[in-house]
Amino acid sequence: MLVKTILNRIHHFKGFVYTSVHYDSGVGIGRIVVDMAPRKNSRGCCSRCKRRSPGYDYLPERVFEFVPLWNIPVFLRYRPRHVSCATCGVIVEELPWATGKSSLCNCFRVFLAQWARLLSWKEVSARFRVSWYMVFDSIKHVVNYGLEHRNLEDIHAIGVDEIAIEKGHKFATVRVAAYFLNCRRSPAHSISPARRPSSPLDSVRSPALTFRCRVAHGQNRK
Ligand SMILES: [Zn+2]
Repeated sequence: MLVKTILNRIHHFKGFVYTSVHYDSGVGIGRIVVDMAPRKNSRGCCSRCKRRSPGYDYLPERVFEFVPLWNIPVFLRYRPRHVSCATCGVIVEELPWATGKSSLCNCFRVFLAQWARLLSWKEVSARFRVSWYMVFDSIKHVVNYGLEHRNLEDIHAIGVDEIAIEKGHKFATVRVAAYFLNCRRSPAHSISPARRPSSPLDSVRSPALTFRCRVAHGQNRK
């Protein structure tokens, strides 16, 4: 099966086609380069209002790193278009496989973030030949996506706790959905409105949210 066929099955985007795939050994380490182009007569999508708009001109070529194949780096190569949007004016088209100015495909960012759950960020960067910052950026991308699409409708109580992150007295604050907490049985100080302006719970908005509390454990739990 050809690489192009596999890509069309697993990473296909309406309005774009894979035109060619070749192995490039001219830049030190070998890499697979996949050329992409807009489908004939397809219109680009405005990156701001997402409306299909007529093309205006082309930007310089960009490469986007994709998930490696047989541990060989894979790059998608594409020349983005400017589109003339009736609302937003001349603007860069939306690229469904990448976000903003990132040189990594979204699927490769998810891939790196998943590995970062198993290995240290440094190990992930060494294993997949990317910078430490790219691993960090990938995790940030996945976390931001999760925050934008999270559903808080079923959360009735939320708590704040601290976990030790290093030896000594270094702690990180974490927010936990407190389905399991019996807030009424906790000591008085653990049931707090937590409405201080800097409270980490203030940003959580849910119509069902009734309790904001501090998680009590150890000798504080009754
Ligand atoms: Zn627009």
